[in-house]
Amino acid sequence: MRADLVLTNGKIFTMNPSQPHAEAIAIKDGKIVQVGTNDDVDRWIGKDAKLINLKGKTVVPGFIDTHIHVADFARVLAWLDLSNVMSIQELQDILKARVQRTPRGKWIIGRGWDQNRFAERRLPTRHDLDAFSAANPVILYHECGQICVVNSKALELADLTKQTVGTGGDIDKNAKTGGLTGILRDDATSLVWKFVPIMTEDELLEAVSLACEKIVEAGVTSVCWIVLSLMELSVIEKLRVRNRLPLRVYIVVPAELLDRVPASTLSKSANKALRIGGVVIFADGYLAARTAALFQSYNDCPDSSGKLLYTQKEMNRLAVKVHHANLQLVIHAVGDKAVDVALNAIEGTLKEVRGKELRNRIEQAAVLNEELVQRMKNCRVIVSVQPCVVDSEFRVWSATERLGPERVRWLYPIKTLISEGVKVSGGSDCPMEPLNPLLGIKAAVTREFFPEECVTVEEALRLYTIDAAYTIFEENVTGSIEKGKLADLAVLSRDPWMVEPKEIGDIEVEMTIVGGRVVHT
Ligand SMILES: [Zn+2]
Repeated sequence: MRADLVLTNGKIFTMNPSQPHAEAIAIKDGKIVQVGTNDDVDRWIGKDAKLINLKGKTVVPGFIDTHIHVADFARVLAWLDLSNVMSIQELQDILKARVQRTPRGKWIIGRGWDQNRFAERRLPTRHDLDAFSAANPVILYHECGQICVVNSKALELADLTKQTVGTGGDIDKNAKTGGLTGILRDDATSLVWKFVPIMTEDELLEAVSLACEKIVEAGVTSVCWIVLSLMELSVIEKLRVRNRLPLRVYIVVPAELLDRVPASTLSKSANKALRIGGVVIFADGYLAARTAALFQSYNDCPDSSGKLLYTQKEMNRLAVKVHHANLQLVIHAVGDKAVDVALNAIEGTLKEVRGKELRNRIEQAAVLNEELVQRMKNCRVIVSVQPCVVDSEFRVWSATERLGPERVRWLYPIKTLISEGVKVSGGSDCPMEPLNPLLGIKAAVTREFFPEECVTVEEALRLYTIDAAYTIFEENVTGSIEKGKLADLAVLSRDPWMVEPKEIGDIEVEMTIVGGRVVHT
């Protein structure tokens, strides 16, 4: 037998404890047939084999992102990226170029500007946009997402005038003339946003296809795709049929959609490249919006302790329903009270559905305590974390102020969870956080707040490889570089163990291989 593809002279980190390092890999029919030294793979090299000399480059198992919103990412990709814009002049140039290739009447959306970076040191106004965008409504979001500037065409469509009063947010007006400046704040942004049409299915399909390309460029070979609509399911299925899905997809649908998922889609679940695997139930909201359910009130808002979205009884019923559908139970629970409700439901289903191997998941599981960690350990729950979120919650706003000094110590205690033997997997939560798994790995390794919860490079890599594979029931086929497993690999520009930890996020993915096929180089 001869291989289709052989990689040699690499620095291969297999994530397989019985053979942690290797130099070469031989691949046939999408699977790994040999891992070892250059000599070991020699006999696999035939005249038809494609040979790749890695020249000392680092290879790791393809990354698995256990929490990504691909359709949202796809929508955002179509927007203008204004995050590096240094002046209003530059913003105008970018907008002008976009207007020229956009049909008349179509909305132009952008995000990422910040007036503090602008040479002009002022907020942009509708007048800055109007000169060359009269035929297209424009909405450009500030980096924080809570402020936007819109042009006159957008104001006209939304019927906003000097007289309009903003509820829940300001509509900026010129101090002298009283005319609208085009700047909308907080809830007032929705006065225009609600007029932006949603994508058609065809538009979404093209956008998602592009998003999938970006995802494999980041070295990601499998995703746990949090689906929010039936249209998204239809798009995924169409891309699969047209052979336009370059990566493996494990779908998680929200509980509200479960009864509406077509039976034909569910029956394809046996397919390893695409399957509906889980159902997500939202137990509460988010800390940033103070909607995460806490036992004690928020430190910076003593009247509020967030809110549970389901009663315990409803949660228990849904959990059993998910198990009876033979799907994985995935509970989004951020606050300690929500995690408690999730664990009660999980503990209940363990009794109800005896004998089955359950891999119940809690997403985020942000605010914990010693008792909750012990309960997670006892019922073998998997905690799905998004390490970049940890950084944002301390840096973008203050989790310390919101939770107070005692509770904040137990915010995302990743190292404690791992040390206690709780299985933890890693995801991006893209587009809310960056897609790049190496940024997630860096965030988990270099965490600044409560550094005792930093993990090692090895542990961080496990979050996105072998432990992520376990999370989606694929540890026997992906997640490590082993004979017999699928050939899903990422070739890195540098060795994450050898660079300064803070530089891990700068490592580039030079090649991505899915099932023996080079999907990015
Ligand atoms: Zn999410």
